[in-house]
Amino acid sequence: MRMGEEKKKETGEIQVLPLGDCPICGGKGTLKVIQHVHEIPYFGKVMESTIICEKCGYRNADVMILEDRPPKLYTLKVEEERDLFTRVVRSKSGTIELEEIGVKIEPGPAAEGFVSNVEGVIERVRETLLMAREFRRQEGDEEAVKKADEILQYIEEVKEGKKPLTVRIADPLGNSALVGEKVKSRLLTQEEIDSLSLGPYVKVEPEEGDQR
Ligand SMILES: [Zn+2]
Repeated sequence: MRMGEEKKKETGEIQVLPLGDCPICGGKGTLKVIQHVHEIPYFGKVMESTIICEKCGYRNADVMILEDRPPKLYTLKVEEERDLFTRVVRSKSGTIELEEIGVKIEPGPAAEGFVSNVEGVIERVRETLLMAREFRRQEGDEEAVKKADEILQYIEEVKEGKKPLTVRIADPLGNSALVGEKVKSRLLTQEEIDSLSLGPYVKVEPEEGDQR
């Protein structure tokens, strides 16, 4: 059934394709993309692609949902440990919000797509916070350090199932999702679609990444 349909990719297949010259270091023909298609149970196929430059080490990852997915808002309330294993598909155009700790991960030039779970997302946030905390500590900004400690403490309690955490993900291009029994979803309104950032997809040149 898959034969003859170009867009249907085989699950488990890993493809390496040449992409030409590197926009970062100018390396001739040093850029390549590694594509990996896999299936998320009860959801469908996603393709992870990682762009790598052999010369300068530039690396960027993204995810694309291969099934037809309308742009939706997905919401999950994490209340117990097992909720942490809810799947997260986040493309570069996806916006993630962690309500109770006031964290918003938005598309931008440095945004990366990934397939993970809620625990993995929380871990990324924790690592970023730890770095920011250290930076603030060196600056002597005690107020910011205290605030970071509060959020880090809250995160620990979420991981132990002691505190709730509302996770939301929205993607105007429909390439991001939460996948799990407790996940609620609804279509994004046109107004919401207009207000969300599209990440790199609106740009023609990567250098134009600053205007938004
Ligand atoms: Zn390069």
